Amino acid sequence: MSAYNTTLNSLECDEQTLRGHLQGADIPTLLMTVAHLTGDLDVLRPAWKPVVAMGVAGSDMSPEEETEVREFCLHKLLAFRDSGQPVPARPTSDQLHAIGTWLMGPVIEPYLPLVAEELVAAGEDPRAPRWHKEHVAAGRDFKVVIIGAGESGMIAALRLKQAGVPFVVFEKGADVGGTWRENTYPGCRVDINSFFYRAVAEAECNTVTGLKQVHHAATPLLLS
Ligand SMILES: Cc1cc2nc3c(=O)[nH]c(=O)nc-3n(C[C@H](O)[C@H](O)[C@H](O)COP(=O)(O)OP(=O)(O)OC[C@H]3O[C@@H](n4cnc5c(N)ncnc54)[C@H](O)[C@@H]3O)c2cc1C
Repeated sequence: MSAYNTTLNSLECDEQTLRGHLQGADIPTLLMTVAHLTGDLDVLRPAWKPVVAMGVAGSDMSPEEETEVREFCLHKLLAFRDSGQPVPARPTSDQLHAIGTWLMGPVIEPYLPLVAEELVAAGEDPRAPRWHKEHVAAGRDFKVVIIGAGESGMIAALRLKQAGVPFVVFEKGADVGGTWRENTYPGCRVDINSFFYRAVAEAECNTVTGLKQVHHAATPLLLS
C-alpha cells in the first residue's frame, strides 16, 4: 500500500488515535466526512455552517466551538466504528446535494455534476480513455511526442499508456515535476486547498501529518 493510498474499507482506530487525528482536521471537511460515513445528514447543523470567502469554505468558529464539534464527531465516528458498517463508496446524489448545499449554499447547484465527477474513490479512474489503440488503429505505426514532464506531460503520458499509444517524453530539466521541481524555496506549496489539486492516479492525502497547513500541499508532497 502506498503512503498516500486512500483506500478505507472499515474504520479501525482506537479512541486515542482517532482523537489525535481529529485535532488537526479541518472542521467543515470533518463534518462533511462524518455525514458521508454515517449517512446522518443531521450532523450538518445550520449553526456549524462554514463561511465562504473567495470561493473557499472555512470555519470561523471559536476554539471552544471547534472543540465541541471535534468531540461530537469523535463520538459519531466511534459509534460508526463499533457498528462494523463498511465505509460507503461515494455519496449518493441526494447526499452530495445536501452536503454541497450546506457547504456552499445554493450557488453549488450548477457545480454538482462537476463535483460528482471530481469525487474519485480509490481504485476508480473515470477519466481513463474508454478506447484502445488496438481497437481504433491497430496497424498504424506512430509515436506521440510529449514536451515536458510537469503534471500536464505526466498525465498525458499516463492517458496514452492506458490507451496503448506509444509515446516519448522530452524534458529539458534533470527530472520530472515541472513547476514543483523548479520552485524550491522554503514553504513552496499550492495556493488552493489540496482537495481541489490532485491527480487521479496518485492522490496525495491531506491527513499525512494531521496538520492543518497540509491542506495546502508543499513541494515534497507534490513531487512524491
Ligand atoms: C507556488 C505555486 C503554486 C501553485 N499553486 C497552484 C494551485 O494551487 N493550483 C493549480 O491548479 N495550480 C497551481 N500552480 C500552477 C502549476 O504550475 C500548475 O498547476 C501545474 O503544475 C503546471 O503543470 P504543467 O505540466 O502544465 O507545467 P510545468 O509544471 O511548468 O511543466 C512544464 C515542463 O516542461 C518542461 N519544458 C518546457 N519547455 C521545454 C522544452 N522546450 N523542451 C523540454 N522540456 C521543456 C519544463 O522543464 C517543465 O518540466 C502553482 C504554481 C506555483 C509556482
